[in-house]
Amino acid sequence: MGKQTLTFLGRDSGFGKENNSAYVDFGNKFLLIDCGYTNFNKLRDQFEKLSKYDSIHIVVTHLHPDHAGSLGHLISCLYYVYNTKTTVISKCKHIQNFLDITGTPKEAYILVDHLDDLDLEMIETNHTDCLDAYGFKATINGRKIVYTGDTSILEPYLPYLKDADEFYVDTSITGGVHLKIDEIQDKLKELKSNGTDIYLMHLQDKEKIREITNGEFFID
Ligand SMILES: [Zn+2]
Ligand SMILES: [Zn+2]
Repeated sequence: MGKQTLTFLGRDSGFGKENNSAYVDFGNKFLLIDCGYTNFNKLRDQFEKLSKYDSIHIVVTHLHPDHAGSLGHLISCLYYVYNTKTTVISKCKHIQNFLDITGTPKEAYILVDHLDDLDLEMIETNHTDCLDAYGFKATINGRKIVYTGDTSILEPYLPYLKDADEFYVDTSITGGVHLKIDEIQDKLKELKSNGTDIYLMHLQDKEKIREITNGEFFID
């Protein structure tokens, strides 16, 4: 088992207190994954530190408020207060419109759909009929990671999981627009036995999930 590459700002499900979001601190670069409505306040404590990075990258998986609710706010703050231009990595069909209608100045960010230096590519998935949604794969500090974002299906990620070091996976008890733990548990165990570290996220009832999975996977 290696060291967990992503540090979570929160790993609650949609209506929880701490929106599901994670980051990597590269020293001179900061990579954030999603920016829900609770994340701006959570990051506020780090703003002095954030101002010192040469570049700030934000991956946006989809536009539900628990993933993008404070995105425009953070980009604007970084630009106006800290003079930092953000790189937004997203394939969401409405991302440009979303940033426009939330008053995010165009000069405050650049929008791209992949990152060469991290070998980061977005992976389209199914989540809800209301929105397009994506996960991604990337190589970070030499570790191959796969991150589902919110998803109801595992299939789009399977080709990338054969040699993944870390898998971050949306997990729910009830299923529906999210993966149901009962239905994916065997596959996760198989991946774990092949050497992939499994991290559960977007959790509604952590203790219940811990019980169902017998503590097999990382959850904290
Ligand atoms: Zn969500
Ligand atoms: Zn969602």
